[in-house]
Amino acid sequence: MLDLTYDTPTPKVIAGAQHDWELVIGLEVHAQVATKAKLFSGASTQFGAEPNSNVAFVDAGMPGMLPVINEGCISQAVKTGLGLNAQINLFSAFDRKNYFYPDLPQGYQISQLYHPIVGEGEVLVEMGDGKARLVRIERIHLEQDAGKSIHDMDPNMSFVDLNRTGVALMEIVSRPDIRGPEEAAAYVLKLRQILRYLGTCDGNMQNGNLRADVNVSICRPGQYEKYQATQDFSHLGTRCEIKNMNSMRFIQLAIDVEARRQIALLEDGKEVTQETRLYDPDKNETRSMRSKEEAHDYRYFPDPDLLPLEIEQDWVDSIKAALPELPDAKKARFIRDFGLADYDASVLTAELANAVYFEQVAAGRDGKLAANWVINELFGRLKKEDHSIEDSPVSAAQLGALVGLIKSGDISGKIAKDVFEICYTTGRDPAEIVATEGMKQVTDTGAIEAAVDEIIAANPAQVEKAKANPKLAGWFVGQVMKATGGKANPGVVNELVAAKLGL
Ligand code: ADP
Ligand code: MG
Repeated sequence: MLDLTYDTPTPKVIAGAQHDWELVIGLEVHAQVATKAKLFSGASTQFGAEPNSNVAFVDAGMPGMLPVINEGCISQAVKTGLGLNAQINLFSAFDRKNYFYPDLPQGYQISQLYHPIVGEGEVLVEMGDGKARLVRIERIHLEQDAGKSIHDMDPNMSFVDLNRTGVALMEIVSRPDIRGPEEAAAYVLKLRQILRYLGTCDGNMQNGNLRADVNVSICRPGQYEKYQATQDFSHLGTRCEIKNMNSMRFIQLAIDVEARRQIALLEDGKEVTQETRLYDPDKNETRSMRSKEEAHDYRYFPDPDLLPLEIEQDWVDSIKAALPELPDAKKARFIRDFGLADYDASVLTAELANAVYFEQVAAGRDGKLAANWVINELFGRLKKEDHSIEDSPVSAAQLGALVGLIKSGDISGKIAKDVFEICYTTGRDPAEIVATEGMKQVTDTGAIEAAVDEIIAANPAQVEKAKANPKLAGWFVGQVMKATGGKANPGVVNELVAAKLGL
């Protein structure tokens, strides 16, 4: 696996207060399961469809309709659990969480309170300084999403879109092992990366397909260690839950501002009340939404329409056997097999499509050179035009060929940039560009020698100067490169200039 120092979390200490305070954060991430159909109905999950067009009778809460579980959602949840090194529970069950919501016509949400499908797991979060923290996962359960109420289309009416109603969500609950805003963002990013590799959630935060409830509390130094030793929550401060965050930046800002609010309260002799809050990005503040509800407020009970879910170990094993290579393993392999630096390997494995592209470029070639071209030239160019790798005008085979031409000495790195540009804008193949445009590097000593002789003969004064001060030989190298249109092999030019000047 990765060569990382496991580090105990570094608490973020908030400066400027009377006392030192540390942050404690636990996240409940809601990830929309990537499936075609909803958790208990055959309606489509397609995003952006005409409002209320993806609604089955079950989703609309029509009388007499019964939920039927979608096996695809179950296997995705199992796959996710396995990808997070988690316990898979062969027995799980669905419960009703009762509340009124205009966008959930059943009048309750089907969730898994008492017997979640996935138990304890872990996520290794790299913090970019060669250190990694292990964030423990408490559980993952399956539940239905709600629809969407729309209040800003009409001054007198509200509208409801039930397309999302009943779509399967995985709620991934972490232990409070996260100690600062940056760690929280790094955790969500890592979780998102793993889910995308697994293909169990598309991780699209803008569409709300991945969102987080962020639990924040503060404590005095030493308290967290007591919690870790005993797992007794009473050593920690009272938490507030900030609902429905779907931006990495806002997650960080919200944690910071919420921690400051709690510190101000405690230092003022007041108390933090456990409650659900909302973050307002315009004012950069959190506001109370409702007081904390308890499980019994929802009158949870086992859903009588659904039998407990029992799955077979063999089935779990077959899902496990088919798991793809995950980010940590891929990164370690890139470092080992292609000799990449840690940072480059991280960049190349951040998205699966990037990793696949890179591997095609690097196969059988110089891995470091390939990484350099993919990251600096291709990614740089794509970013400029806001393109992703999927719509790269340069194919992996073409970039690989270009890297091959550099390595074999057919073209210099400098000429390669011109070839790349032509390939990027026209789609022509590098080998053909080099041949047709006469861009092949001149390594033929005779031709280079002639150019060197000519420049030496034409510049006697410069020759005298260079003999007195060998550093000035660079001027001749530059002139030869210019005379040959940048195509001369720089190594050969250097050697010949030095020899001819008798340096
Ligand atoms: P609930 O069922 O009320 O939502 P849970 O015990 O399931 O409460 O915890 C929800 C989340 O809150 C978990 O991610 C957990 O790690 C986090 N959490 C619990 N206690 C604290 C705390 N003192 N500070 C920060 N986060 C906490
Ligand atoms: Mg909760």
